[in-house]
Amino acid sequence: GEALAVSARVAPLGSRLVLLLVEDLTEARRIEAVRRDFVANVSHELKTPVGALSLLSEAVMDASDDPEAVERFAGRMQIEATRLTNLVQELIDLSRVQNDDPLEDAEPVRVDELVAEAIDRCRHAAGTKEITMAAAGADDLRIWGNRGQLAAALGNLVENAVNYSPARTRVGIAARTVVQPGGDLIEIAVTDQGIGISEKDKERVFERFYRVDPARSRATGGTGLGLAIVKHVAASHGGEVTVWSAEGQGSTFTLRLPEARAARDRAHRMSHRD
Ligand code: ADP
Repeated sequence: GEALAVSARVAPLGSRLVLLLVEDLTEARRIEAVRRDFVANVSHELKTPVGALSLLSEAVMDASDDPEAVERFAGRMQIEATRLTNLVQELIDLSRVQNDDPLEDAEPVRVDELVAEAIDRCRHAAGTKEITMAAAGADDLRIWGNRGQLAAALGNLVENAVNYSPARTRVGIAARTVVQPGGDLIEIAVTDQGIGISEKDKERVFERFYRVDPARSRATGGTGLGLAIVKHVAASHGGEVTVWSAEGQGSTFTLRLPEARAARDRAHRMSHRD
C-alpha cells in the first residue's frame, strides 16, 4: 500500500518532467529548423542578384560592339547591384535589432523627427508616383527608445505604404498618445490606399522573407525583411505592431510604443523600490 501510494505521488511529477523535456526538445528543434530555413532563404536571396549580375556582365562583354545593348545591360546591372546592397543592409539591420538591447541606450525620441525622417526617405519614390504624404499629431510626442531602431521601423512602414500603393493616392501618418494605467503609449498609424492584404496573408507578412507577391516586392527593391524588423523593434521596446487591411482598399499599420516620460518614471520607480 505504501509503495503504491509513493509511486502514485511520484508518477505525475515524473511524467510532467518528461513532458517538459519533450517540449524543450521540440522547441529546440523548432528553433533549429527556423534557423536552417533562414540560412537557406538568405543564400537563395543572395544567389538571385549575384547570378543575374554574372549573366549580365557576360552579356555586356558579348555586346561590346553594340553600345545601346551595353547601356541596357549596364542599367540592369545597376538595378541588381542596388538589390544586393538593399538586401545586405536589411540583413545587417535585422541582426542588429535582434542582438542589441534597444533599451540599453534608450532616450526620449521626438516623434515629429522620426516622421520627418521617414517621409524624407520616401520622398523620391512617392514623388514619381504622385503620392501625397501627410502627417498629423506628432508634435510634442516622445517615445522612450533607441533612435536608430525606431527610425528604421517607421521608415519601413512608410516605405511599404508608398511601394504597395497605386499612383495619385495618399499616405497618412497619424500620431497620438494613448493614456493607459500601465503607462502611456505613443501610437503611430501609417495608412495607405494601396492594394491591401488578404486575411490569410495578414498573419504572415511579419515573417522574414514572406511576401504576398514576390515579383512585385522585388520590382520595388523589397527584401521581405522590412516588417520582420518592424515587429522586432516594437517587441523589444515593449510595444507592438498591428495591421488592419481591406483588399483593394488599403492598409493601416499601427505601432504602439512606450511614451518617454511614462517609461522613465516607471524605470525610476523600479530602481527605487525597497
Ligand atoms: P518587402 O521588402 O517585400 O516590402 P516587408 O517585410 O516590408 O517586405 O513586407 C512583406 C510583404 O507584406 C510585402 O512583400 C507585401 O506583400 C506585404 N506588404 C507590406 N506592407 C504592405 C502594404 N502597406 N500594403 C500591402 N501589402 C503590404
